[in-house]
Amino acid sequence: MIYLDHNATSPLRDCAKRAMLEALEETGNASSVHGAGRRARARVEKAREQLAKLCGAAPSSVIFTSGGTEANALALRGAVAGALAAEDRITRIFISSIEHESVRANALAIADTVPGVKLNEIPVTRDGAVDCAAFRLALMQGKGRVLVSVMAANNETGVIQDLAEVARIVHAEGSDGALLHVDAVQAAGRVPLAFDSLGMDYLTVSAHKLGGPQGAGALLVKEGAPLSSCIAGGGQEMGRRSGTENVAAIAGFGAAAEETSNLSESEGLAELRDAFERELKTIATPAIFGAGAKRLPNTSNFAIPGLSAETALIALDLDGIAVSSGSACSSGKVKPSHVLSAMGVDENLARGGLRVSFGWSSKKDDVSAILASLRKLLARQAAIAA
Ligand code: PLP
Repeated sequence: MIYLDHNATSPLRDCAKRAMLEALEETGNASSVHGAGRRARARVEKAREQLAKLCGAAPSSVIFTSGGTEANALALRGAVAGALAAEDRITRIFISSIEHESVRANALAIADTVPGVKLNEIPVTRDGAVDCAAFRLALMQGKGRVLVSVMAANNETGVIQDLAEVARIVHAEGSDGALLHVDAVQAAGRVPLAFDSLGMDYLTVSAHKLGGPQGAGALLVKEGAPLSSCIAGGGQEMGRRSGTENVAAIAGFGAAAEETSNLSESEGLAELRDAFERELKTIATPAIFGAGAKRLPNTSNFAIPGLSAETALIALDLDGIAVSSGSACSSGKVKPSHVLSAMGVDENLARGGLRVSFGWSSKKDDVSAILASLRKLLARQAAIAA
């Protein structure tokens, strides 16, 4: 199989598999005081350091969770509840219009259920970058403590946000105690992250997007930022996320974080992606979404006018090639992606959105293979139309 869907999940790296197998060989609850427990604890703490290094943060800011979704939920719900408990309520939440569903749904649920909290959407430009001028204006117009959630890089288009500018606006124009959450699930291990120096308060990371196991993630929290635990129980993770740690998954997460911390794969990924897009333009006239913005090195999201995403996905799958469509399928209907809609992409074109995402296991031959498959499909379509 030719796997070009690393933004959905990336295959498990060998280093992560080794770290997991070693952890699985041994019994031990990381909270137990005996030797086996202490060895499990040591694995968790090593991973905490590895992850902190990847994110430019202190190990003490890392809280392990079951993944990116839980970390996003904990950031938003935990910040709102924590601020409320400290009697310094959050009354305005801003999220960009291209956030992942785990941010959108939690922000909506908070606005629906917590009295006095208003949700605002920050628009993006046609290239998928947060419209900083509109954001600044909206922030200045209201009053009350602010929580802002902007992703570091988008999962569909790979467009990278100017986090330094977003953080500057949040802290210059937001209320006293304005808070910034960044979903870095797609950015981690692909572009630099600087949690401590960029002025972020919360940062979400997920293991399986960087070659660690599925079902592990982390929320990084700045010292002093409000956070109430969403799960009551044994008080693990410094009382911020109860539940026995998944030691093997955390160990695999740490190993994958370590292997990606120097970003040494990024240049090779950009070469593959750029070669793919260059060659694609010789066989069709694709619209490449976000092409005018800074993008993750591994991601290409495009549509070929007249080619539906489902037809392309099926044809590629029959040739053993895995990619994603930019559209979400629900109740039998293909909905155009909210990300492409927010970028003002025509609905019909958006329905043809395809995402190719390269990763650590990708090779030059993968590019030739997907292009050959698309070329064959386009020729067949042209023959039918003739
Ligand atoms: N945030 C973004 C940007 C994502 O792409 C994803 C997964 O697709 C998530 C959050 C959720 O992460 P997880 O799959 O670990 O729950």
